[in-house]
Amino acid sequence: MARTRIGIFGSTGSIGASTLDVLARHPERFSVDVLVAHSRVDPLFEQIKRFRPATVGLVDAGRRAALEERLASLPAAQRPAVVVGQAAVDELAGDPALDTVVAAVVGTAGLGSTWNALAAGKRVLLANKESLVAAGELMLDVARRAGATLLPIDSEHNAIFQCLPADQAAVVGRAGLVGDSNEIERLVLTASGGPFRERPLADFAGITPDQACAHPNWSMGRKISVDSATMMNKGLEVIEAARLFGVSAERIEVLVHPESVIHSMVRFVDGSVIAELGEPDMRTPIAHALAWPERIESGVAPLDFGALAGLHFESPDPERFPALRLAFEALAAGGGMPLVMNAANEVAVAAFLERRIGFMDIPAALQAAMTHFAGNAAAGAPETIEAVLAADREVRAWAASWCDARGS
Ligand code: NDP
Ligand code: MG
Repeated sequence: MARTRIGIFGSTGSIGASTLDVLARHPERFSVDVLVAHSRVDPLFEQIKRFRPATVGLVDAGRRAALEERLASLPAAQRPAVVVGQAAVDELAGDPALDTVVAAVVGTAGLGSTWNALAAGKRVLLANKESLVAAGELMLDVARRAGATLLPIDSEHNAIFQCLPADQAAVVGRAGLVGDSNEIERLVLTASGGPFRERPLADFAGITPDQACAHPNWSMGRKISVDSATMMNKGLEVIEAARLFGVSAERIEVLVHPESVIHSMVRFVDGSVIAELGEPDMRTPIAHALAWPERIESGVAPLDFGALAGLHFESPDPERFPALRLAFEALAAGGGMPLVMNAANEVAVAAFLERRIGFMDIPAALQAAMTHFAGNAAAGAPETIEAVLAADREVRAWAASWCDARGS
């Protein structure tokens, strides 16, 4: 059997590393052909030595010389081709030499590569939820038209995908999947509640970036860790689920489950609830999507039920986590509102990580941007990818000045 040729966009990140860990267990089944990073050449070079990709992409042209210097130490036959700059790197995602693209870039910066991979009809393993929130139906349209296979590796969406009846279990750009079903009552997205689930609300203003990035259950990149702490991550995931499974906001429930053992559930009209359980380790959903519809070993230890002290559930606290409410509002408003919320969030999270604004300024920034752009966003979602990128830039510029004013 020919090996499946994999490209990882965002290979040096948390999802990238988990993906490579799974791939290293199955060298007979997969080859690693393309690796892409933004600027961190040291971890990229380590990956090059270990996985021998044919091509690497580096977004930051300023780091090219540093990468070339390291590559010069390798025998000529082991040196990959180097592609530099955002547009050229994004084009690699549509390369005919790839079968599967892992979309693991953080933020709307991942839109170009995810889009190109879908447009080229590839199997796309989607971690980059921000691009689906910002570009919504456009992404699903392009996936459908090109016959691409879109499989979620976000753990909640992967869990739901696994819980769907077998005859419906192909996301593959088939929006409307759950919406059309008269068997499925609703989707239940579980949430850990992040590190501040029990912290007194009065102390929220003093939360530091390092505290926000110390997630109790999952080890992740800094941006998504802050999103988990504000519960914006769950908000983005509600919109991601609405897009992927074709379901309205009323049919998505968020349930706080601090142990993160149940990764999400589907409720059926007959009263049955089907859940997917496992250790909180991204290698499980990644392995599932890499091999689907088959199963492969992931390196994740089997869940030890005897070691569980219990499984707990509660409703999310709207006072603590206004970002979650705002995401439901953005989804209900439709049009360009999810894009506005997402762009404002990326800017506000970056400002928080640089200690320019406080923790509770993040939801305040989202609220301010959504109010400011309400008229524009209601005019409808952008209809081309260029319009999405232009709208994203406009909201970012506005949110950056909001954060500057707030921080000064
Ligand atoms: P990280 O911050 O750990 O990694 C981000 C990766 O993207 C790095 O490889 C980085 O390169 C690269 N990158 C950054 N900007 C660009 C760009 N403009 N073009 C190309 N590559 C770029 O993030 P995570 O792995 O945590 O998250 C990645 C995505 O997966 C996010 O959308 C997140 O929401 C989603 N996700 C993550 C989960 C997790 O467990 N981590 C769980 C579910 C979803 P460099 O290292 O050079 O900066
Ligand atoms: Mg998730």
